[in-house]
Amino acid sequence: MLQSSFDECRTVNYSSVDFLEIDGADGEGGGQILRSSLTLSMLTGRSIRISRVRAGRKRPGLLRQHLAAVEAAVQVSAATCRGAELGSRQLEFTPGPIQPGHVHCAIGTAGSATLVLQTILPVLAIADAPSTITLEGGTHNPWAPPYDFLTRAYLPQLERMGPTIVARLDRAGFYPAGGGRFAVDVIPATTLQGFDLLDRGLLRRQSITALVANLPASIGRREVDTAVRRLGWTRAATYVNDVDSTGPGNCVFAELEFERVTEIVTGFGRLGVPAERVAAEVVREVREFEKSSAAVGQHLADQLMLPLAISAWQNQGRSPGGRFRTLPLTQHSRTQIAVIRKFLDVDLDVVEEDEGTCIVRIQSNR
Ligand code: ATP
Repeated sequence: MLQSSFDECRTVNYSSVDFLEIDGADGEGGGQILRSSLTLSMLTGRSIRISRVRAGRKRPGLLRQHLAAVEAAVQVSAATCRGAELGSRQLEFTPGPIQPGHVHCAIGTAGSATLVLQTILPVLAIADAPSTITLEGGTHNPWAPPYDFLTRAYLPQLERMGPTIVARLDRAGFYPAGGGRFAVDVIPATTLQGFDLLDRGLLRRQSITALVANLPASIGRREVDTAVRRLGWTRAATYVNDVDSTGPGNCVFAELEFERVTEIVTGFGRLGVPAERVAAEVVREVREFEKSSAAVGQHLADQLMLPLAISAWQNQGRSPGGRFRTLPLTQHSRTQIAVIRKFLDVDLDVVEEDEGTCIVRIQSNR
């Protein structure tokens, strides 16, 4: 079991550290700048000072979920840090050597555990020994990658780059009760290979799944019925799964499995919002994806940039990394690009196409 270096936080002479300064208010101004900066700091060994943490959010500063990402990064890189407290708006983080092995992190709230995973996974995916990561918290959160998106859309692309990653869900966690838990085994690849994802390939399968925890199954049935009817998809590929969870929760997702990529579009049930409206939100996003020629959806886009940039950075002079075609860039993607450029000397450009799509290209400097 790795020892957290939280206790050592105040023993470092910070006046002599050369920090890379990160403004947490830039771009999206949310938790992503913090998490991506932690990942890239661990990767490059650069100390970072993040000021104005999550200044763009209603409740700025570190919330439990963000603090958990810092804690996980500290475990993985034997880091020392200052400002790792609830509500803190400035964080100084100095990574040590990467320590693969057993990593455990409990968020303690319904905050997204998948976002915590994504903070440390790119680093453990290229470590010099395997890891098992156990995370507790929210597994299906709005505004974060739901567990099913993580395992069907994100992880298969990361695995294409070399590592073997196996995830298992013990219990789902929904807002507000949380209590979810999953584990991820990682067999690393020394170097991440690159890939091009310019078209999806042929459609293999499409389905609608509702997850229902401690709520009437009829909610899920109404969601999947509405979604397939409006999308004109077959009713044979609809599922309503009763999932084990501490508290109540519901989400519905469309899965579009293509030859080269899988897209997962999720809508979240919430109090006072009819199931039909939740399904309609999913339908709208699916249609937008279907009518475009993008291979990569808006969320997967910002999440794939980091592993591709790491591949480019590791392959200096040999140029892996790669290209993908996506929908118009979100603020999250733009922010991700800015953070990557701060840390890594890689070629990263975006070419906008006539149909509204764009191609993101990330390669090593030749
Ligand atoms: P904050 O609490 O500061 O709003 P956060 O820490 O929750 O921020 P963001 O900075 O908003 O996180 O980043 C959210 C991440 O979750 C992004 O990578 C985004 O692509 C991803 N994401 C959001 N919604 C979905 C979804 N429905 N499916 C997949 N990924 C998602």
